Amino acid sequence: MSSTFQAPKGTYDILPAVSGTVLAVRDALAAPLRRAGYSYIETPVFEDVKLFSRGVGESTDIVTKEMFNLVKRGKEELALRPEMTASVLRATLQANLHRSGNLPVKVWYSGSQYRYERPQKGRYRQFWQVGAEAIGAEDPALDAELIILAVDAYRSLGLKNFRMLLNSLGDRTCRPVYRAALQEFLRGLDLDEDTLRRAEINPLRVLDDKRPEVQAQLTGAPLLADYLCEDCKAYHEQVRELLTAAQISFEDDPKLVRGLDYYTRTTFEFVHDGLGAQSAVGGGGRYDGLSEMIGGPALPSVGWALGVDRTVLALEAEGISLTQPSTNAVFAVPLGEQARRVLFALVTELRREGVSADFAYGAKGLKAAMKDADRSGARFALVAGERDLAENLVQLKDLTTGDQTPVALDALVATLKEKLQ
Ligand code: AMP
Repeated sequence: MSSTFQAPKGTYDILPAVSGTVLAVRDALAAPLRRAGYSYIETPVFEDVKLFSRGVGESTDIVTKEMFNLVKRGKEELALRPEMTASVLRATLQANLHRSGNLPVKVWYSGSQYRYERPQKGRYRQFWQVGAEAIGAEDPALDAELIILAVDAYRSLGLKNFRMLLNSLGDRTCRPVYRAALQEFLRGLDLDEDTLRRAEINPLRVLDDKRPEVQAQLTGAPLLADYLCEDCKAYHEQVRELLTAAQISFEDDPKLVRGLDYYTRTTFEFVHDGLGAQSAVGGGGRYDGLSEMIGGPALPSVGWALGVDRTVLALEAEGISLTQPSTNAVFAVPLGEQARRVLFALVTELRREGVSADFAYGAKGLKAAMKDADRSGARFALVAGERDLAENLVQLKDLTTGDQTPVALDALVATLKEKLQ
C-alpha cells in the first residue's frame, strides 16, 4: 500500500487515464440541452434533510436507507443530496423563477449525488449525473423534447446498445383507483413482511422488485395501462406519436414505475445491455405533484437524470474511445542555469500564444530530459545550452523524424506556430 489513506468505500478517484472521457461525457450529455434553451443551474451539495424526505419520498429506499445525513451540533438537519430534482425545484421556488412569466423554466445541471448503497460495479456512494428539468408546463411535446435530447446525447457519443422503456403512471384521477386494485391483488400473494408493508405504503414499488420469487407472483397483477383515464391515455398517445415522428424507438413497459406518489404520467428509463445488473444509464419522468409537496404552487414538471459513471462504462462496453491522450506540442529541455531561465520564459510565451508546452523540471540531465520529452508525446523538443544561447539560438528537434534545426530565439514562437498549423 502506498498511502495510509484510501478513498472511502463506494467512491473512486477519476484519474487522468479516464478523466478526459468523463469530461467529454458530461459535455456530450449537456450539449443537446444547451441547444434547446436549457440554462445551467447549480445548487448546494447538502440541503435541509426534510427537502429530501418530502421531495424524494418518505417511503423510498433513497430516503429510508441510503441518505447521507450530516450531524450538525448533534442534530441531523442536513443531508448530502441523493438526487437533484428536489433541490432544483427548491431553488426555482426560492428565487421565484416560476413567476418570471416565462414557463416552463428549463434548466440543466451536472453534479455529484450521494447514496449510501451497497457498492458494486456501476453502483457507487458518490456518482455523477447530468440532468434536466422543465418546470411549470404540462405539454406532451415537453416530455418528448426531453426524451429526444437524451437519446440524441447518447447517440452523439456513438452509443448503440441502449434501449428506452416507456410507461405512463396516470394522474390524480386514475392512479388511486389502480393503486387500490393493485393493493388488493398484492394482499393475496405470499410475500415477506417487508414487502407486504411496502404494498401498503407504496404498492407500485412492489412491481419494481427485482427478486425472481416476487416477479413470478406478479404475472397476473393489474396493469396501470388498463386503468388510465381518457386524459392520461390521450396525453401518453401524443408523447408516443411525437417520439415516433422523431425516429426514437421505445419499448412500452407497463411495469416501469418510479414509485413516488407525485410522479405522474410519462415515465421512462434508458438501459444499456452491456452493463450487467446496473443497467440503467438514465431515467426520468413527469412529477406534477412535487412542487406542492415542498410547499410551492402547482407546477407540472418533467425531467431526467443521466448517469455519467454508467455512461462511461457503457462506452467501455461498446469499445468506444472518445479522447486522445492529451499531449503538449512542445517540450523544453534546458542545459544549464542560463538556459533554464531563457527556456522557461519561452515556454510561458508559447502558452500565452496558445501553444501547449511543458518543461523538463527537476534539473535533469540531457538523456533523462529527452526521455521525458518522448514520453510526453510532444511533437517538438526545444533544446538549448550555453553555446546556443551565446549565438541567440535554440535547437528545435522534431520528435517524429528526429530532425534537428537551429532557430533564432526571436523567430521561435512564429516558427513553431507555423510548423504546428
Ligand atoms: P435515479 O436518480 O435513481 O433515477 O438515477 C438516474 C441515473 O443515475 C441512473 O439511471 C444511473 O445511471 C445513475 N445512478 C443512480 N444511482 C447510482 C449509483 N449509486 N451509482 C452510479 N450511478 C447511479
